[in-house]
Amino acid sequence: MAEVFKISDIDRLEIFSRRNKSSRPPFFAVFGKPVAHSLSPLMHNAALAEIAKSDSLYESSRYFAFEVEPEELNSAIEKLRAKNFRGINLTIPLKERAMKILSDFDESAKSAKAANTLLKTRSGWKGFNTDGYGILKAVETAFGIKPKGAKIFLIGAGGAARGIAAAFAKKSCAEILISNRTLERAEELSSEIRKNFGIDCKALPLHSEGEIPDGALIINATSVGLKDEDAPVLDFSKVPQSAAFFDTPYRRGKETSSVKASRERGLRAESGLAMLAWQGAKSLQIWTGKKLFGKLMLKEICPVATIVKAFDELKGSYHKAHDDLNHT
Ligand code: NAP
Repeated sequence: MAEVFKISDIDRLEIFSRRNKSSRPPFFAVFGKPVAHSLSPLMHNAALAEIAKSDSLYESSRYFAFEVEPEELNSAIEKLRAKNFRGINLTIPLKERAMKILSDFDESAKSAKAANTLLKTRSGWKGFNTDGYGILKAVETAFGIKPKGAKIFLIGAGGAARGIAAAFAKKSCAEILISNRTLERAEELSSEIRKNFGIDCKALPLHSEGEIPDGALIINATSVGLKDEDAPVLDFSKVPQSAAFFDTPYRRGKETSSVKASRERGLRAESGLAMLAWQGAKSLQIWTGKKLFGKLMLKEICPVATIVKAFDELKGSYHKAHDDLNHT
């Protein structure tokens, strides 16, 4: 669990004014509500420590988690601007709100109409969206699926879903079906995707399992799965077994209920840790201009998965050696 601060702590606590002798170390933060579950401080602080090995400016840099309400966002980013904060990540439910209060965006945020990364500029903050980059990288690593020609069944129409839909559309996926609890939001997003990218895109209500095409990549971009008591986001007994399932929510060291149910059905499935690492690595690159630290960040938040993968590889080489011996 991340240590969570309030914006009112900024003026009160000495750590937010920390400086080293000659320079002001840049600080970074994630804003959201809830935010205590966030693994961003863990992985960003590990990457900052790595950067500090070759760049002393970052020696006292730190990444903090702040609980911020949507109506506080404007004053919160102003407060951090006055301190030595250089970058902010936004999570639930602030990504779309940022578009209303900022005026400077790069192409990734404009096409998604959602910003998850803010970079301090001379006059204010500039918005970016790295969720799209994170999901493309994670899906390719997890399933070997490239976006071009992919059939996407996207659940959700909030800030994360916007970044994901735009990223796949930009890379010429074959079609996107958007299924959301509030149908109007799915309709709005699908009409934007059709208009902006010319991609076949349709809105559906939640629980449209019968519409999932064979071989689809199903992505859950709702907050269903963040809590222990959350039921799977779909009835996986009605989902084609040829589909792959990517769950953007994550639980450290645990499967989400949707990942568990989809694997029991025989689907290939992954939770959002890899996406978290790659979207975070891209944000850190935007803020620091350094290389991408995706692998280091993933290792930091996912030690169990790393050990399991290493064990599987070891087991694979054992079986291969055993087979080779039996065939000589
Ligand atoms: P958001 O803008 O608040 O959108 C929330 C979405 O979840 C909306 O589509 C909402 O539907 C839906 N939803 C919420 N509660 C629901 C319920 N009980 N049943 C069905 N649908 C429900 O939040 P966001 O920023 O898009 O984040 C959404 C999720 O993506 C979060 O779980 C977050 O952890 C995950 N995420 C993960 C990563 C990663 O790197 N792994 C990155 C970004 C986001 P309505 O429109 O009907 O309200």
